[in-house]
Amino acid sequence: MRTLIAANWKMHMTRSQAQSTARQLTEKLEGKLPENREILILPPFTSLETVAGVISGKDGFSLGAQDFYPAEEGAYTGEVAPGMLLDLGCGYALAGHSERRHVFGESDELVGEKLAYGLEKGLHMILCIGETLTERNNGVIREVLSRQLRTALDSARVRNSLGSGLSVAYEPVWAIGTGEVARPEDIREAHAMVREDLMTLLPQIGEETGILYGGSVKPDNISQILGIDNVNGVLVGGASLKPDSFSAIALG
Ligand code: PEP
Repeated sequence: MRTLIAANWKMHMTRSQAQSTARQLTEKLEGKLPENREILILPPFTSLETVAGVISGKDGFSLGAQDFYPAEEGAYTGEVAPGMLLDLGCGYALAGHSERRHVFGESDELVGEKLAYGLEKGLHMILCIGETLTERNNGVIREVLSRQLRTALDSARVRNSLGSGLSVAYEPVWAIGTGEVARPEDIREAHAMVREDLMTLLPQIGEETGILYGGSVKPDNISQILGIDNVNGVLVGGASLKPDSFSAIALG
């Protein structure tokens, strides 16, 4: 299975900063990536075209969006449609990143709508799920992850539109941007739960669906994390902003 190393730049970088960062990454990584490894860059909307220009024709690099609104076009001030992203060269998009859920109040249902709509439009969708610290302390991780997966994936729309690809990112909310990394045994346990649910919800692709880990991934923990069962890649926030640290992760 392909290993996906994704850089979520969040709301960082002007176009010139994005261009310089993407250029440094391609210089450091092109031709050096381990076999079956793919680098996915998720810049802010304003830098998508710039990054597309840098990575165009570069082996092992892909472009994606951090979010979108699930409609063709229309009166949705401030929003961006999947068709606009495809037009810029995006092959991937996130749905349900924890900051969308917790800062912007996106519900499981809206995340599910985005996931189904993005798949229907031909984007490879990365569904982000994860428990908060309170949920972890209350011992309800299994329920939370299963609910988030079921609400997004248990639909005929999803089952009928899997051609462009699906990945799941397990990102414990308490480990995102905090410097706290989940323990290997916690990651192993959560990824096993996700795999089990995927096999039940989408038996035709459950086994080969990539499950990424996200939460304070750094150059010094990447090889341990990638060695855990059912970890098929990582989603990196803070450490993806610097070419040195992200390229060390990408090669790790
Ligand atoms: C993320 O944004 O998905 C993330 C995991 O951030 P960080 O690596 O900074 O924890």
